Amino acid sequence: MRLILFGPPGGGKGTQARLLSEELRIPHISTGDMLRAAVAGGTELGRRAKTLMEAGHLVPDDVMIGIVREVLSSPAVRRGFILDGFPRTLQQAEALTAIFRDLGIRDCRVINFDLEDEEIIRRLAHRLVCGADGKIFSAEAEGLSPGSPCPDCGGPLVQRRDDDPETVRLRLRVYHSTTAPLLRYYQETGEVCTVDGSGSIDIVHREICMLLER
Ligand code: AMP
Repeated sequence: MRLILFGPPGGGKGTQARLLSEELRIPHISTGDMLRAAVAGGTELGRRAKTLMEAGHLVPDDVMIGIVREVLSSPAVRRGFILDGFPRTLQQAEALTAIFRDLGIRDCRVINFDLEDEEIIRRLAHRLVCGADGKIFSAEAEGLSPGSPCPDCGGPLVQRRDDDPETVRLRLRVYHSTTAPLLRYYQETGEVCTVDGSGSIDIVHREICMLLER
């Protein structure tokens, strides 16, 4: 199965992608996670991306397209994949269509996460990420705080620098101006299913599974 999870930052794509990846046994390709790993590793890519990411801006298209082309060309994704955080611009979407054509991929479905900005701002204010394995938690719902050990692996929980309220507002502006219009591109060229992203993790997961069974 090949999926693109599409939607705003903080909309639950990463959490749902992890669940689907475990259940369907196909790789979760998160461009955000790949960039954060590059920043943590101090690579050339990480140095280029760090300031842009922390400020809530997008990393240039040519860089992102090169990364995704390489990953999708690898044998590890032959049985399927879940793309999370890519594409984010029309140029990326068009490049992805060309990559799919080159690789003979015809059956990729788009799942669109629909939720209000207010809910996103509220969620991101409480989002904590495990510094060791990248798992996502809600400080509010789970009684955790920055520095608490990850309930799963004991790694340190941190708040992402780009989750501060001002940067979140900028990321949402970038999403609405640059990324959200891509939905029309996919509605014209392929199959898009929309889920109500405002529900609990379990409810959204069940809704996605029902859509995929159709
Ligand atoms: P995410 O974890 O998906 O919210 O991504 C975190 C940050 O990484 C974004 O705010 C961008 O700065 C950068 N990023 C991730 N994916 C992309 C992409 N497809 N195009 C441009 N920048 C990206």
